[in-house]
Amino acid sequence: QRAEWDKLKNEETVTADGKHVELAANIGTPKDLDGVNNNGAEAVGLYRTEFLYMDSNEFPTEEDQFQAYKAVLEGMGDRPVVVRTMDIGGDKELPYLDLPKEMNPFLGYRAIRICLAEPDMFRTQLRALLRASAYGTLRIMFPMIATLKEFREAKAMLMEEKEKLVNEGVEVSEDLQIGIMIEIPAAAVLADKFAKEVDFFSIGTNDLIQYTMAADRMNQQVSYLYQPYNPSILRLVKNVIDAAHHEGKWAGMCGEMAGDQTAVPLLLGLGLDEFSMSASSILKTRSLMKRLSTKDMAELADKAINECDTADEVVALVEEYTK
Ligand code: PEP
Ligand code: MG
Repeated sequence: QRAEWDKLKNEETVTADGKHVELAANIGTPKDLDGVNNNGAEAVGLYRTEFLYMDSNEFPTEEDQFQAYKAVLEGMGDRPVVVRTMDIGGDKELPYLDLPKEMNPFLGYRAIRICLAEPDMFRTQLRALLRASAYGTLRIMFPMIATLKEFREAKAMLMEEKEKLVNEGVEVSEDLQIGIMIEIPAAAVLADKFAKEVDFFSIGTNDLIQYTMAADRMNQQVSYLYQPYNPSILRLVKNVIDAAHHEGKWAGMCGEMAGDQTAVPLLLGLGLDEFSMSASSILKTRSLMKRLSTKDMAELADKAINECDTADEVVALVEEYTK
């Protein structure tokens, strides 16, 4: 099987009926680029920048960050790179950032919430990203967006830093895309409104599932509720993809679900444009997609969403359609 997959390394991802989808990789550091290239990723769909902060004893400087982002962009050549701004909090701590002890860290002070409250820290990251944008195809995305106000504030800071840099004579990319992660049900429900203002969505199912099902993604006792195939999750995902397409934008997914071989047929059927996963899942997913027709998968997804009551029924339906 490995040999069959290896042959797909330099191929584009095309379904049995000829639709191209983008298979991208999730990375945590520039070192992960080896895996990205060895597995034939067409893009980086999620660069989790918080590791830059976590692997250090103090805030990384603008220059440190610039070097890391530039290395990834240069390493990818023409292929796009989606960089997520810092997502600290929840389960990820920073020794040098004194975060309050909270009853519910996953519902508390994390990600974009910290960034908007600590503008100096956030603007340093934005400047580093903007400077790096001249070295490749950069897409910036903000994590844990719940409201349009948060997105507008974050985007306004980005635009201000861009203007400052341009005035300083620094080269900044002119076709930078700015998007958000869809990880909070409120944003998934209101996707039609967000779609008018963002350039793209990337659905973060790791968090979206835990927040929709109210089941902590780290808690074994409630893991039975952590159900990617629950029709409620599929409906939210469909709402997000449809909203993006209605405005001529693209929708991707960078949660674990994007590389899940049972979910892929459903996501293809829902019209997802980009699938971002751990590099080691890319070739087997490309191989699976070559065997699937988007028309059949659209019928599958439609049935899953409208006729299935439970996650188990959805799984059985996928098996029937893909056997
Ligand atoms: C997600 O929530 O699906 C996601 C990709 O982000 P993280 O796993 O880093 O929270
Ligand atoms: Mg997340």
